[in-house]
Amino acid sequence: TSGRKPLIAGNWKMNLTHLEAIAFLQKLAYGLPEKYYAKVEVAVLPPFTAIRSVQTVIDGDGLLMTHGAQDISPHESGAYTGDVSGPMLAKLMCRYVVVGHSERRAYHHEDDAVVNAKVRAAFASGITPILCVGEGLDVREAGEHVGHCTTQLSAALEKVTPEQAATLVVAYEPIWAIGTGRVAGAGDAQEVCAAVRGTLGKLYGDTVAGSARVLYGGSVKSGNVGEIVAEPDVDGALVGGASLDPDEFAKLCAIA
Ligand code: PEP
Repeated sequence: TSGRKPLIAGNWKMNLTHLEAIAFLQKLAYGLPEKYYAKVEVAVLPPFTAIRSVQTVIDGDGLLMTHGAQDISPHESGAYTGDVSGPMLAKLMCRYVVVGHSERRAYHHEDDAVVNAKVRAAFASGITPILCVGEGLDVREAGEHVGHCTTQLSAALEKVTPEQAATLVVAYEPIWAIGTGRVAGAGDAQEVCAAVRGTLGKLYGDTVAGSARVLYGGSVKSGNVGEIVAEPDVDGALVGGASLDPDEFAKLCAIA
């Protein structure tokens, strides 16, 4: 990962009430001694309803993990019932926001234009997007996974500046490996993560490509995270299921 600090981000999805989130953070703080944070950045991504509590515990207890959100409105404010804006998330000290997750692309019909608008909204509020790209099983079996992911990436980055792109986090998440227990091999993860970095290089130059972080996501656990993050272009992991158990998540972060 050549100088880039690895990031392990726990995507809680629609799990944990704010009370459960507080208990989770307390356990994680015990399970992951402070010395580990020198080597790995650990982020939790709760549902909106738990962000305030997470922020308060992290701040109040001086915990070293960071936090973010799972979605952002493309708009700054206005008549968008149910949505949450970048300025609102920034006020809660969110460092990251997930954009383009395959679940939102599928269940909320978010296309590349929406993903691009959300990426730009995040940057406009000083929040780093964790931009997810990834192919379904049909695309993988047709051998078109690299082109599919780099096309999603380019589309999501329209009108994004080099200064912004240098701070970007991209997560390669093959849809067939999410929540299925089926992990892409470390070599498969490296192949697409390297292509993602190559595309960033073409769009913005080598310096930007060398500073953006590229994660792998899809059934990552403490048992497989080591070999995955050992790949040269894989700078950490976006973790779903295994991020909900504080003992397992602490173990996973310690290994990374
Ligand atoms: C995810 O959806 O971001 C994810 C990686 O999920 P899981 O780890 O459960 O496969």
